[in-house]
Amino acid sequence: MDPNLSQLILAQLLDKRLVVLQRRLDSLPVELTEREASFAALQAEADEVAAERKASLARSHDLENQVGTRDERIAKLEKSALESTDPSAAQVARHEAESHRKANSDAQEEALELLERAEVLEQKHAEVFGKIEEMEEDLNAFRQNVEQDQQDLQKESEDLTARRASYIDKVPSPMLTVFETLSGKHPGKAVVPLKGDSCGGCGTRLVPNDRVRVQAAKALIRCPNCTRILVTLEMWAEASETVEG
Ligand SMILES: [Zn+2]
Repeated sequence: MDPNLSQLILAQLLDKRLVVLQRRLDSLPVELTEREASFAALQAEADEVAAERKASLARSHDLENQVGTRDERIAKLEKSALESTDPSAAQVARHEAESHRKANSDAQEEALELLERAEVLEQKHAEVFGKIEEMEEDLNAFRQNVEQDQQDLQKESEDLTARRASYIDKVPSPMLTVFETLSGKHPGKAVVPLKGDSCGGCGTRLVPNDRVRVQAAKALIRCPNCTRILVTLEMWAEASETVEG
């Protein structure tokens, strides 16, 4: 039996772990970006609410000012109506005063609605602000954890890579080249066990002669279909035990 085949299986078992580690490493910045985006959206919502509240208050204030100006105008019109000796002029003045009173009544109603709206918005702003504070705390904790997790995963990945190198450092170069090329194509799946009389990778049935050669395990035999390296189930199981243990 060629012991180098077992070394390839060992290296590949670590490749599987490295694939998982890399996936986790890749997902961390993605999750951080998502959380940061949610946080920014919440901040934008708070800004929007604050801006609408400010605009409501300003508009309400404007309306109150207009009411004040109209009140002065109404007082003048009523005075001139009283003092006027011309009945039709007095009528016109009273009529104008009445239309100003109507406008004031509408304006006061609108101003009150705007004040109520501002109050609702103030409450909403407080709610959103509460969420922002909570989220900021979570986000900061997550940022710190991400850094720690990244360091841990990176360290684990380096350890596994070093261990992988130690498994294959005596494998002859032609065999290693085949293995690494296949590993590039199928990470963690370059070597597969023979299952019954079929390739464990693609299920292709092997001709008896190839099966015998895989069982002999004296050379590198590849699946005629998927080109993966074939080994016996026994070698496969033994290597798995070694790596787990
Ligand atoms: Zn195959």
